[in-house]
Amino acid sequence: MEYSILAEVFQKMESTTKRLELTQFLVELFEKTPHEVVSKIVYLIQGKLRPDFEGIELGVAEKLAMKAISKSSGIAIKKIQEAYTKDGDMGHAAAVILEQKTQTTFLMESITVERVYETLFKIAKLEGSGSQDMKIKYISSLLNDASPLEASFILKILLGTLRLGIAENTVMDALAITYSGDKQNRKLLQNAYNVSSDLGKVAETIAVEGIEGIKKFKISLFNPIRPMLADRVKSEKEVIEKMGNEFAIEYKLDGERVQIHIAGERIELFSRSLEKISDYYPDITEKMPKIIQADDAILEAEIVAINENTGDFLPFQELMHRRRKYKIEKAVTEYPITVNFFDVLYCNGKDCTELNYNERRRKLESIVKQNEFAKFIPMTIAKNENDIEEFFENSINAGSEGLMLKMLDKPYQAGSRGSHWLKLKREYRNELGDSLDLVVVGGFFGKGRRTGSYGTLLLSTYDENTDTFPSICKVGTGFTDDSLDQLYQILNPKTTIKKNPRINSEMEADVWFEPELVIEVVASEITLSPIHKVAKDEIRKGTGLALRFPKFTGKIRLEKTAEDASTDEEVISLYKGQNKAVRDKNLIQ
Ligand code: ATP
Repeated sequence: MEYSILAEVFQKMESTTKRLELTQFLVELFEKTPHEVVSKIVYLIQGKLRPDFEGIELGVAEKLAMKAISKSSGIAIKKIQEAYTKDGDMGHAAAVILEQKTQTTFLMESITVERVYETLFKIAKLEGSGSQDMKIKYISSLLNDASPLEASFILKILLGTLRLGIAENTVMDALAITYSGDKQNRKLLQNAYNVSSDLGKVAETIAVEGIEGIKKFKISLFNPIRPMLADRVKSEKEVIEKMGNEFAIEYKLDGERVQIHIAGERIELFSRSLEKISDYYPDITEKMPKIIQADDAILEAEIVAINENTGDFLPFQELMHRRRKYKIEKAVTEYPITVNFFDVLYCNGKDCTELNYNERRRKLESIVKQNEFAKFIPMTIAKNENDIEEFFENSINAGSEGLMLKMLDKPYQAGSRGSHWLKLKREYRNELGDSLDLVVVGGFFGKGRRTGSYGTLLLSTYDENTDTFPSICKVGTGFTDDSLDQLYQILNPKTTIKKNPRINSEMEADVWFEPELVIEVVASEITLSPIHKVAKDEIRKGTGLALRFPKFTGKIRLEKTAEDASTDEEVISLYKGQNKAVRDKNLIQ
């Protein structure tokens, strides 16, 4: 397939933010796409080469890209740098430069999607000495044969700056329309995506086998399943209202969620955001084969750091010491953990997600052999508020965050947040100020003690409907010297020259970041705001919502992606709940 077809669609998509138009452009693209290329196209439009969980990163730096442009065009790097600084977009700057190419290439081969994809793949796989030169060679060979438009989009993919403004939902809408003629089939595609986390595989299945293939789509080992999530509740009373008179309650441990895939000798661990984390936990991969008594299985557990002497649970932060590439063996002994199982999604060749909670828990207990390292999350069956209250006290005393409440007769719903699972945390109970997970989108340089770091951060929620990040507050309190330092290290590589178009903010930050990092924040109140963009026009026309007196709790939520951050709906519901609480209090007084 000619790469020019893809580049032209990219250009059209960049010129609009309207979801219907974007969907239509994608439909036109898929109609021109041969079945064997469709998965590659789906990865490329998301700026990827493979699904996220495979961890294949292009990792090309701007400097290297400039060298490649220079090699291909014969134009000095200094000039390229100037054009880039003026434009702010390397892809676009390259297109302008290549228009004035001084070196003429006589043998222009037309480039195909397959060639671009394979070359990018080779670049991603290169490492070690000499790899930089090889990367330059590969990139410039593509640029030699590319038109300026094609070159600009090759560079955007390489540098990770392709911004088409499409979320996975839009891609699935377009796939459903193209290959089944009915947008409603998006739901079936969503199910397939939820159990595979691989949009390319879903696209190939519907293209080759049609909607029937999607209906038969199955869980595969080593393809992570998107996790089932819980709604929050604020009181025992609310739990009873939502769950009825018999349900399971489990400790909500404050650790890292892990999905363990095991088949014979092979074992792989995935985080809540479906990143491969096997390397951080060699103790788990080593011990599991003896603990899990099944030919193959997919299990869910919470990894919790413990105090080796007392066996007490330690807070989530302790696990961050495991997130390192080197000297992991030392971290394993210094920061011991336990693995606390709570679900089974697949076992001995069979999908278990269709089973109800009771059946899954029984199966889990039948295949996991408990010991000091591997345990079941404490669970009991509750019937009333007292039962919850009592278990809640026990769980807090044991060092957990609160409770998870689960309906007994419900299956595992991959990828969905709903009321079949609820969470009741200590901080939610009867409080106005709640904790929120927010995306860091901008920074303001610090003064005094904070010179050389970002003293204040601009934060956003995630708006699922528009796939954007509306601003909610600036936060400048709650930071220690250590956390400022750590945040600077993480955020500095995420700075961008121009604000990412998915960031919705009227405020001008000193620096903009790619919306990726999530941090936890508490606040005293949610107020109406003329500046911030969360839930704009929802409560009052022309007004959004903002946090009053926000404070960083110290938790950097590396296990969450920006799309897992608190949503506008959550903020609206907190705002409404808070106003109700104030009204109730005034009535009582
Ligand atoms: P939070 O910010 O509260 O950790 P979340 O968005 O990561 O929430 P939720 O489904 O809303 O996910 O809350 C459940 C989280 O709590 C899980 O992701 C998991 O890490 C953790 N957890 C601890 N104990 C349990 C348990 N018994 N069952 C399920 N999840 C548990």
